[in-house]
Amino acid sequence: MTNNNLIRKLLKLKDLKVVNFAFNRGGELEIAVKPYKNGCRCQQCGRRGKIVRTRPQARRWRDISVGSWTVWLLYYPREIVCPTHGRGLEVIAWAEPYARFSYRYEYVMLRYCQMMTQKAAAELLRVSTSTLSDQLHASIGSLRSGHRIRGLKTIGIDEISYCKGHKYATLVYDLDRSVVVWVGEGKGRKTIDEFFNNMLSDYQKQKITAGSCDMSDAYIGAINTHCPNATLVLDRFHIVKALNAAVDEVRKAQWRDAGVDERKALKGLRWLLYRHSSTRSREDTRTLKALEKANNRIYRAWRLKDEFEQFWDYNAPWAAQRFLKSWMTATLRSRLEPMKKFVATLRKYESGVMAFIGTRLTNAVGEGLNRIAKIVKNRASGFRNLSAFTDMIFLTIGDVDIPAQIPNKFRTV
Ligand SMILES: [Zn+2]
Repeated sequence: MTNNNLIRKLLKLKDLKVVNFAFNRGGELEIAVKPYKNGCRCQQCGRRGKIVRTRPQARRWRDISVGSWTVWLLYYPREIVCPTHGRGLEVIAWAEPYARFSYRYEYVMLRYCQMMTQKAAAELLRVSTSTLSDQLHASIGSLRSGHRIRGLKTIGIDEISYCKGHKYATLVYDLDRSVVVWVGEGKGRKTIDEFFNNMLSDYQKQKITAGSCDMSDAYIGAINTHCPNATLVLDRFHIVKALNAAVDEVRKAQWRDAGVDERKALKGLRWLLYRHSSTRSREDTRTLKALEKANNRIYRAWRLKDEFEQFWDYNAPWAAQRFLKSWMTATLRSRLEPMKKFVATLRKYESGVMAFIGTRLTNAVGEGLNRIAKIVKNRASGFRNLSAFTDMIFLTIGDVDIPAQIPNKFRTV
């Protein structure tokens, strides 16, 4: 076996001929290659063209490492004339048209970034984190290019913070498929309008049958404006969260006014008050009972919250409506300001709250996706800019399986 063939076999450079190779300083293995067959093909139609000239400069593609060697493929691309498309550069069989890395490298890079922090991936790939971030951006941009949103029927809209400080992005979910279909900068109406105006056709908007979001006028307004056939369902988890926040406000106010002795009785209540009845222990129940005497205001707030849980179990809209009405009346009489404020919000969005009963739709899938996005964010200890965060969101929970876009034969880690 010749040395060239040995290198070819060792590196599994199928369909390629090794012309030459050199072990350079700095641990680089440079391999001059050329297509074994199937060269000179048009980038647009794949037909064979006539060679016009060979480019005088070699191009280099980063390939997967071997041992401690960083491998580079070297090739002088040829310009060809296609009978249909005219003059252009030939197809490079081992890489995307303008990529600086081979498909094999690209696949490994994407899979590593799905599995671990970019810092760890960069170390394994032997590139700097900023190079990796650029490579990732180029790869994801190119593999997602031309992608259109399809079959969107149940939409979820949510926000997420990124960067330190208070920068927000809006996430749009396809709740049927459990994926993120869009990420936009900002969290207001302007941002979400951008999605509806630029990403969906009128036909697609008509096809949306349900939308879920929190109690924010921006998202509610956008769904109502852009999706004529969608039932707006306010997200159950966000409603429960708002109710919990109201109970907590009552608790905090009582804590502020309490003396030293009283505070003892109020200690450790915060999470107990949040707890759903199904996860309550006997000990919890005892503590809550004691609270009735120790602090009646907190107790009453908690009781109302606990009663509200029933709402979600109703199947008949009329029964749910009756329950909601009596619950709101009781809460308004409670003289607990934060709770009364919560009722005012419920009243404002009542049809969206009631829509849950008929549809049973929640943003639970969206919440799950949001949680993953947060994990991705924390794993990276924040992102310098939204585009880096967006890349990672699309790579982990996007509507395109990005590594699967790489031709099958190059997919090995
Ligand atoms: Zn062509």
